[in-house]
Amino acid sequence: MVYAENVDNSQKVVERSQSHSKKKKIVVLGTGWAGTSFLKDMDISSYDVEVVSPRNYFAFTPLLPSVTCGTVEARSVVEPVRNIIKKRNGEIQFWEAECLKIDPENHKVICRSIVENLVGENDFSLEYDHLVVAVGAQVNTFDTPGVMEHCHFLKEVEDAQKIRRTVIDCFEKAVLPGLSEEERRTDLHFVIVGGGPTGVEFAAELHDFIHEDLVQLYPSVKDLVKITVIQSGDHILNTFDERISCFAESKFQRDGIEVLTGCRVVSVSEHSVNMKVKSTGEYVIVPHGMVVWSTGVGTRPFVRDFMEQVGQGKRWILATDEWLRVKGCPDVYAIGDCATVDQRKIMEDILTIFEAADTDHSGTLTIEEFQDVLEDIIIRYPQVELYLKSKHLFEVTELFKDSEGNEREEVDIEGFKSALSHVDSQMKSLPATAQVAAQQGSYLASCFNRWEKCNTNPEGPRVFGSAGRHAFLPFTYRHLGQFAPLGGSKAAAELPGDWISMGRSTQWLWYSVYAR
Ligand code: FAD
Ligand code: MG
Ligand code: MG
Ligand code: MG
Ligand code: MG
Repeated sequence: MVYAENVDNSQKVVERSQSHSKKKKIVVLGTGWAGTSFLKDMDISSYDVEVVSPRNYFAFTPLLPSVTCGTVEARSVVEPVRNIIKKRNGEIQFWEAECLKIDPENHKVICRSIVENLVGENDFSLEYDHLVVAVGAQVNTFDTPGVMEHCHFLKEVEDAQKIRRTVIDCFEKAVLPGLSEEERRTDLHFVIVGGGPTGVEFAAELHDFIHEDLVQLYPSVKDLVKITVIQSGDHILNTFDERISCFAESKFQRDGIEVLTGCRVVSVSEHSVNMKVKSTGEYVIVPHGMVVWSTGVGTRPFVRDFMEQVGQGKRWILATDEWLRVKGCPDVYAIGDCATVDQRKIMEDILTIFEAADTDHSGTLTIEEFQDVLEDIIIRYPQVELYLKSKHLFEVTELFKDSEGNEREEVDIEGFKSALSHVDSQMKSLPATAQVAAQQGSYLASCFNRWEKCNTNPEGPRVFGSAGRHAFLPFTYRHLGQFAPLGGSKAAAELPGDWISMGRSTQWLWYSVYAR
């Protein structure tokens, strides 16, 4: 016993002294758009990097709708994580496991291997110096009864393959002998709940798949097929440019895809959808052969638990600051769909900004004094630039004009407040897209790569309210005209709102607006 204890203690000491000289350890959760772009850009010579994800591959989500219809093979939309890390000289460790809990107090994560019938323990824990949470979002059923049991989702490669098999099964069922026409119609009614980009792309792909391929194979039932999109809002694609949403609706009408707007699904059963028509309050039963649920995303339960631990329990989605650091939890970063950047309102900091800018402490701000801090303000509060653009203001002096439009040499705090009072209305949250996730991943990697340098030579804006300059520039999203990471042979259509449509069926979304 005594002997064993001694061994134990000496081992602990060794571990500790090793960890002293060791590189800092970064643990990354997730191998989607955000996590993978972080790994690709990370300089692994200065850090130990470990990755945890239940999927040992990266999935190219823009092509998933095409996988549902076999236009694109499943294996061509995935890239094994081990290939990605091999290219990085193999210094990155990968664990195929799911994170169950983040323990920020003790700087560790609890994980569980997803391998079934594993010999030995399934659970293990990893310590970190820095944690990068990049676990994306999960589907949100809004607790609608029957959705989990009877609907398909379109998030993962397996989902897409399952949808493809089910579509074909529906046709096989519909041609069986002894069915009434009504029963055949039910089998061939494909319902998509959610008129966002994923639902719309899937509906378009499904339409082409059916009308170009399946009707040749099942000619006897070709006139019984129907596709319906149910949308709770007034228009499909309502986060997009209005022209796109109108075009999509009229295109669907021509194709015979029914769009039911203003309807909320209240329950789903094996063969029917029960929905409420918002305008009349009546309930309508819609028979179906298959439902794809494509509406809403939610926070994963272990992320929610983490939010509660760090004082974000009242929020819907995990919030970070502009440097992508989780609010209330140093050393944890969150990127991609699992988090949102909580931008600061300029009005919250107006007094500090005023005092910082008023270098001669005169109690008033001259245009020169304001101009000196403007660049830093714009970096920290991008809404200022958006506001100036939206008002077609090119000179700061124009902000200084009084209510009668007369130019002023200087303003006091009240004048300053009123000059900037509408700026915060231009704040926009970033869209949940592959492009944002990928840019956040490479931004964060570049911060880690330049950690030493930046801590000695800060480059960031003055952070009003706290001392000095911040070491790094905050994350700013650059909308790229072309979706750079794609490259290769596939033409990517770029849509306003930053969604990249790759499917052959939805190329029209792009042409419709720009090629007329
Ligand atoms: P994800 O890419 O979802 O990655 C999350 C990662 O975390 C995955 O590897 C997952 O396995 C892992 N993970 C999950 N749980 C855990 C856990 N407990 N522990 C550890 N790891 C975990 N965007 C566009 O811009 N253009 C498009 O055309 C487009 N098409 C899309 C089509 C479909 C069908 C879908 C579903 C999405 C599409 N998107 C598109 C959205 C885009 O895919 C997301 O915005 C993007 O994937 C977000 O990246 P992420 O890294 O945050 O999350
Ligand atoms: Mg990710
Ligand atoms: Mg992904
Ligand atoms: Mg996000
Ligand atoms: Mg002054």
